[in-house]
Amino acid sequence: MKTIENINFKGERVIIRVDYNVPFDGDRITDKTRIESSKETIDLILNNGGSVILLTHIGRPKGFETKFSCKLIIKEVSETLGRQVLFCDSTIGKEAEKKTKMLKPGEIILMENVRFHTEETEGEIDFAKKLSRLGSVFVNDAFGAAHRAHASTSIIAQFFSKKYFGKLLEKEVTSIRKVVNNGKKPVLAIIGGAKISTKITIIESLMNSVTDILIGGGMAYTFIKAQGGSIGESICEKDFCDYSIQLLEKAKARNVNIHLPKDVIIANRFDNNAVRKISKIDKIPAGWQGLDIGPDSIEALKPIVKKSKTILWNGPLGVFEFDNFSNGTIELGIMISEATKKGSFSLVGGGDSVLAVKKFGFSNKMSYVSTGGGAMLESLEGKELPGIKALS
Ligand code: AMP
Repeated sequence: MKTIENINFKGERVIIRVDYNVPFDGDRITDKTRIESSKETIDLILNNGGSVILLTHIGRPKGFETKFSCKLIIKEVSETLGRQVLFCDSTIGKEAEKKTKMLKPGEIILMENVRFHTEETEGEIDFAKKLSRLGSVFVNDAFGAAHRAHASTSIIAQFFSKKYFGKLLEKEVTSIRKVVNNGKKPVLAIIGGAKISTKITIIESLMNSVTDILIGGGMAYTFIKAQGGSIGESICEKDFCDYSIQLLEKAKARNVNIHLPKDVIIANRFDNNAVRKISKIDKIPAGWQGLDIGPDSIEALKPIVKKSKTILWNGPLGVFEFDNFSNGTIELGIMISEATKKGSFSLVGGGDSVLAVKKFGFSNKMSYVSTGGGAMLESLEGKELPGIKALS
């Protein structure tokens, strides 16, 4: 991994591909994590003599669309970085090249949304070449977009001999490797969330590196149904019943312990204010559905989390958006926080577990919270991400 540590950027114009694809509520940014996460890389490069050209995408525009303009984030970017950030209302071309050439050491410019050009997502080589003319060095720090073979995330790298991992990308990759490649044993993976179809390849791939897997959330019911249990109206993907049995057999053959919830909190409808009861997970009556794990499942989980030296958490254990069904997810957050305090390595990433961790105030109690959704999931599946491959 070629990182930016100890590199002299004196006189270099450094293109940093960041991921400022931040969520908006109207024109207000609701979560600045991605901007905050880029600060370390930018500071390091500026403090080592370089100037910085920021490339990012926002949303999925079809050509130019005002609501996806980088102009909308320039104030927040300046405030978060604590530096004045210039803006260029084009991404490539004469004007863009002129503005970036004029940058003095210590200056930053944010270019307009790369996805205003359809060539970006097509990974078009000429467009990537035009982007490359903006700078003399390329740094990728956009983990959230590293699973895309787009012009600015991957294709552009071939035009540079000086190309590096930014600090954020470095941390993300190191954290994943700590779990998947060289996790201190015992390694526990907690896989929750709604659908087994989106996680099945991850479960299968993780079997090569973990000691225990807890399957929670909505996907647990497919496993229970496959084994002949009664799950009432709980969510289930019948097409994956056979596959889930195969997975259980595979785990047994590889000495991986699979844990499924013993009891769950059931509801008479999908509603925070539904009537609630505790039920064995395989004896849910008709008309009822499981929306959270129950007290026995929580107790059973405690010693497993406690003994684990490496913990991966992907997906909530229940419908955490409903206060009345968020207890299992909160209890798990407490367990992992305590294990982390005692020296275990914990990684949270992919999908809604990051949202849950933020909602319940656990972010600073985990070893690392990933900024990438799809990129994180594909890494856990064991895929090599194009944005990372291009740097080697
Ligand atoms: P994911 O994006 O795969 O992490 O899935 C997260 C979603 O799974 C959240 O919106 C949860 O509300 C949902 N979820 C978790 N447990 C259940 C459940 N038992 N029944 C229905 N949805 C669930």
